[in-house]
Amino acid sequence: FLPHLVASMEEVEETYIMIKPDGVQRGLVGEIISRFERKGFKLTGLKLFQCPKELAEEHYKDLKTKPFFPKLIEYITSGPVVCMAWEGVGVVASARKLIGATNPLQAEPGTIRGDLAVQTGRNVVHGSDSPENGKREIDLWFKEGELCQWVHVQAPWLRE
Ligand code: GDP
Ligand code: MG
Repeated sequence: FLPHLVASMEEVEETYIMIKPDGVQRGLVGEIISRFERKGFKLTGLKLFQCPKELAEEHYKDLKTKPFFPKLIEYITSGPVVCMAWEGVGVVASARKLIGATNPLQAEPGTIRGDLAVQTGRNVVHGSDSPENGKREIDLWFKEGELCQWVHVQAPWLRE
């Protein structure tokens, strides 16, 4: 363990990434996890989970008044999701870039939604939109003991 090569703790952020039920049903789990792994972020939590309605409503509470809210809750609870916590410097904004625009038809090629999806209502993946929401969502979706703290042996090869 080479502490001087590891980013200082205050720079490190966490984000909540979730493969939605369409991503699981379409066999995209490995493909999507790979993109975050290859980029160089550290996985600290991972589980397949059937989301209860109350949790989906809490997660998307800011969208409660939107006309698509009932359909969104039905979609997210329609099958298992893959819940992930990822850690790294700048991981929140970078994950949003890797994911691409909310509407997959507007998402750039090379992004997950740009490459793998065609409609907003089936956009395969979620990513937190701020470090605060990253923490809030990880707390919401993971119980104590489900997250792992470990030393990323690649660290000295990812950052100077
Ligand atoms: P995100 O942060 O890019 O996921 O987008 P938002 O936070 O704006 O919306 C959350 C999720 O709600 C999106 O990823 C979509 O799954 C869904 N959503 C947003 N807008 C619409 C819409 O106009 N129609 C439908 N059916 N779903 C939507
Ligand atoms: Mg959002």
